[in-house]
Amino acid sequence: MIYTGGTIGMRKDIQTGALVPFDFSRLIDQIPELQLIDKKIDTVSFENPIDSSNIQPRHWQLLADIIAENYDNYDGFVILHGSDTMAYTASALSFMLENLSKPVILTGSQLPIGDLRTDAKENIITSIQIAGSYNGEKPIVPEVGIYFEFKLLRGNRTVKASSEHFNAFDAPNYLPLAQSGVDLKFFRDRILNPPDGIFNVQKNLVENIIVLKIHPALTKDYLSYIINIPKLKAIILETYGSGNAPTEPWFIDLLQSVVTKKGIHLINITQCQRGSISPEKYETGRKLMAIGTFDGKDMTTEAALTKMMYLLGKKLSKKAVKSAFERPIRGEMTI
Ligand code: ASP
Repeated sequence: MIYTGGTIGMRKDIQTGALVPFDFSRLIDQIPELQLIDKKIDTVSFENPIDSSNIQPRHWQLLADIIAENYDNYDGFVILHGSDTMAYTASALSFMLENLSKPVILTGSQLPIGDLRTDAKENIITSIQIAGSYNGEKPIVPEVGIYFEFKLLRGNRTVKASSEHFNAFDAPNYLPLAQSGVDLKFFRDRILNPPDGIFNVQKNLVENIIVLKIHPALTKDYLSYIINIPKLKAIILETYGSGNAPTEPWFIDLLQSVVTKKGIHLINITQCQRGSISPEKYETGRKLMAIGTFDGKDMTTEAALTKMMYLLGKKLSKKAVKSAFERPIRGEMTI
């Protein structure tokens, strides 16, 4: 169990009243139930636990290192993480942990572990059970998941959907991998098969990527400014509906120059909460396609961003990046 911080282990600062992370040993003391689990649990903590709003790619690299160093010695891994950016971390890890064939389950809570009404205990205990669920020699969930409020979701399909409900996460385009009720029920046909290759970690992530939401007040000046950011490698365009954007000449010309003159990758995903892009449907999507935008299908923003960070880190040819981006490599998109 790896503790990174988040509400789960926070306490109220006496002076300000704000929630701040506290150290891990005090968190463990709050869950005597852990002694009752018939698994041997070792724990490791970030030296300085963080509110997950402070997460950075270097933290993902640290998590990947911890998992790699301990990979052969454990049946599975549980990462305690703040909910704000859990979907980004889960998505990033799903790509970085190549040929993963053990469970890596992220969880956290909406109320601190010390709160009488906390949701933390059930989340932690069931996550540990999922991470340790095997069918003989085979782990039942050989992939990165998020367990929260009775549901196990595929990590790279997940978004934080509520800031107030215990049921904080949603996987808008993929059904849950497991449901916890009286029984812990796994939906095996939705879970990835373990890959054949040897486990490997790819830590090289390219960070010069922008997420740009298209909106009616987007101006030429603003777009020109963005595309001229030095060293920019990719722009994830959150487009309207099924992958549509304005067809005004200044808009199309600027984006065209991004691809042809600057060699920046343009990715098309929808800003809708559910569903996929189908840019061929409307003229407004076809113009984007003609520019050479990558088809993000039904990927979440979190998955599209971290997948590009990962693929660009591989230093592939432009064509290879596009073809890898447009097909599912960890179950992150529907084709
Ligand atoms: N701000 C907190 C965090 O993401 C929220 C949470 O843990 O739920 O670290």
